Amino acid sequence: MARVAELIGIGEARRRVLTVARTLGGESVPLDAALGRVLREEVRSPVDVPPFDSSAMDGFAVPPSADGALEVIDEARAGAPASTTLAPGTAVRISTGAPVPAGTEAVVPVERTEEDGGMVTVSPSKPGANIRRRGEDVAAGASVMAAGEVLRPAALGVLASLGRSAALCSERPTVAILATGDELVDPGAHLDPGQIWSSNPSALAGQARQEGGVVERKGRIPDDPEVTRRELASAAAGADVVVVSGGVSVGPHDHVKGALAALGAEELFWGVALRPGKPVWFGTLAVRGRSVLVFGLPGNPVSCMVCFQLFVRPAMKALQGADPDAARRTAVLEEDIARHPRRDQAVRCRLSSADDGLHAAPTGPQGSHVLTSMLGADALALVEAGEGVARRGDRISVELL
Ligand code: AMP
Ligand code: MG
Repeated sequence: MARVAELIGIGEARRRVLTVARTLGGESVPLDAALGRVLREEVRSPVDVPPFDSSAMDGFAVPPSADGALEVIDEARAGAPASTTLAPGTAVRISTGAPVPAGTEAVVPVERTEEDGGMVTVSPSKPGANIRRRGEDVAAGASVMAAGEVLRPAALGVLASLGRSAALCSERPTVAILATGDELVDPGAHLDPGQIWSSNPSALAGQARQEGGVVERKGRIPDDPEVTRRELASAAAGADVVVVSGGVSVGPHDHVKGALAALGAEELFWGVALRPGKPVWFGTLAVRGRSVLVFGLPGNPVSCMVCFQLFVRPAMKALQGADPDAARRTAVLEEDIARHPRRDQAVRCRLSSADDGLHAAPTGPQGSHVLTSMLGADALALVEAGEGVARRGDRISVELL
């Protein structure tokens, strides 16, 4: 068939996706709601952290050259500094986190002291011992995080340590998810002969949420051109991204492409030299001045998830201003895999780590309908098209799931 020659590679398909995936706006997000969100600002610290010299131990703050018996003249607690200055021959009882009193040269841990009445006997310590210096963690003015970073728990903690209660984050893309097919029934409902439970929307919604999307699940679309057109138009009206599964191939009951053409969508590709996932369609639909990204994913459940991973995920990263290639790694292949002469293969793999880096072992049968091959898969190994075999021990590109 003539179309075979037109198939583009995974890299070219991703490039076309990324040329039209423009970053959404930003919004201030309270820290408690910011986990997993993409930072939109460079974070500089307005202050030194810690903000003052403080004790790293429970013990006694001592003046220079302290050795032997000292008079305990005051106490410094976390949140309640001492009011005195250390003079020669004196000490201040101090708790972890308390500001060290003026005149302190070191903190002697309580385990290395002996108290008797109002006196404490200490052994000598190095200048600066057990004192956390002001600004040791972050100096005022320092750049702490870059725009595009995905906020993980530590980032939320660091923002809070700078006194921030919110961060400027990218808006979350709204993702409308639709599934086409006369054979589909919602999970939980009764199956008549020839019907199957629709699994793609559940998997896709999970993938989209994992990428920071706000998911709008739409109903099933029967294999009818008019309904397909209407449902796609309605989904696009409220979404940044439309993901529709099934009906995108060349069968007489595949209506997604035709419906999108009727709506005036601009096709950026149809067909990628990829297994599984060849018939994937991508384009844009103009809706009241906005450009909605539309992905027509193959109905086969594995193809559907693989195409989300390889094409929709980078788009969602880009929409949020994050690195679309952040999931790329290299790994050592654990088994021989026969190459496909014309198509790159996305092989579901379990990863393990060894001295020479990550290793990738296929999860088992790789048919595009064998959805359980995605269970326990950590990555897709991308085995390039060509003659012969990708050998056990070869280093190949993998995409983390
Ligand atoms: P299609 O891409 O519409 O030709 O569908 C390819 C295969 O995927 C067929 O076996 C469909 O029954 C199956 N399929 C399509 N959509 C779904 C879905 N939502 N859940 C599970 N299987 C599906
Ligand atoms: Mg179908």
